[in-house]
Amino acid sequence: MSIRPIYLDCHATTPVDERVLAAMLPYFTEHFGNPSSIGHVYGWEAEAAVKQTREVLAAAINATPEEIVFTSGATEANNLAIKGVAEAYFSQGQHIITVATEHSAVLDPCNYLKTLGFDITILPVQKDGLINLIELEKALRPDTILVSVMAANNEVGVLQPLAEIGEMCRHRDIIFHSDAAQAIGKVPLDVRAMNVNLMSLTAHKVYGPKGIGALYVQRRNPRVKLAAQQHGGGHERGMRSGTLYPPQIVGFGKAVEIALAEQVMENQRLTELRARLWQGLSQLEGVHLNGHPTQRLAGNLNISVEGVDGAALLLGLQPVMAVSSGSACSSATTAPSHVLTALGHSEKLAYASVRFGIGRFTTQAEIDTVAKHAIATIESLRKQTILVQ
Ligand SMILES: *Cc1c(COP(=O)(O)O)cnc(C)c1O
Repeated sequence: MSIRPIYLDCHATTPVDERVLAAMLPYFTEHFGNPSSIGHVYGWEAEAAVKQTREVLAAAINATPEEIVFTSGATEANNLAIKGVAEAYFSQGQHIITVATEHSAVLDPCNYLKTLGFDITILPVQKDGLINLIELEKALRPDTILVSVMAANNEVGVLQPLAEIGEMCRHRDIIFHSDAAQAIGKVPLDVRAMNVNLMSLTAHKVYGPKGIGALYVQRRNPRVKLAAQQHGGGHERGMRSGTLYPPQIVGFGKAVEIALAEQVMENQRLTELRARLWQGLSQLEGVHLNGHPTQRLAGNLNISVEGVDGAALLLGLQPVMAVSSGSACSSATTAPSHVLTALGHSEKLAYASVRFGIGRFTTQAEIDTVAKHAIATIESLRKQTILVQ
């Protein structure tokens, strides 16, 4: 087997935990029923497994099982939340507020709604990646129907103050949606205490399978209305038609269950690994930490490096580690990360950025190897730059 680089891209995706896989396997072959088949045991088994995951997810965010709508992931959950609210509340207003550092699965549906005539406010963030609550308050209008702010950022790991935002929205009867794809299982979430009305979740950032997610849709005080974005057999109380996928759903539940059980200790371990990596890298001059120093995900370290070319940096790191850089690659073009430019970085510095996503299976020895190689790469690139000048 060829030696593969150390995986440090846990914000992009995570491996499926063996315990999750083991829980999923019987639902492919043995318990293969359709959860909608109410006339026989095959259906009942599948339905029981789906119900179990609904309960786990609901408990994880302090919702009720009836408030969980399964989707194919957080992208679909965000689309259902944002377009679903826009369509259902159209007559009450057409103003939506979101934030510059949101995932494209939030920004793109908002941009799409703009083409339909909706008025979209995109709030800037402060240098540390946090939104300014006073700016948010100023942006709220009588025709605002939705505020969408993520729980944890996928690039710089910053945790937004959901409870404060929720409180502001609640007073004005504005629906509050939060993309919690990076947060579920990693930081405490409580939709009641935080006054979150809609929350997007996904399994594959928390050691579950890809292709499964959920949208929490509040049912009472207030009851959120959503226009379905996919029509068919009326599954998920009409909000999302399509046969449910029990193996993925079982894996989602198991993944969240494990993450919650291990959350406190795992965050402690990740915090230590991250501090160790940062301690190494910060010995160099001109290496900046991106995002708030403490209000963040434990496993995220995002740095910008002065005096090196971003593409050369990534190329130098690649043989040893699988990380993401400060560029957002779409099919043809490479643009600097919209998150890092929103934090106030120049394009050049945004490109020369590295996101380390430390995860459950990262070891201290790996962190040491990564730190050593990253330091050597940066020093070597800087020397070359001096030589050509
Ligand atoms: C990964 C991610 C998404 C997309 O989730 P999928 O389940 O892959 O569709 C959305 N938002 C954030 C913040 C993410 O990190």
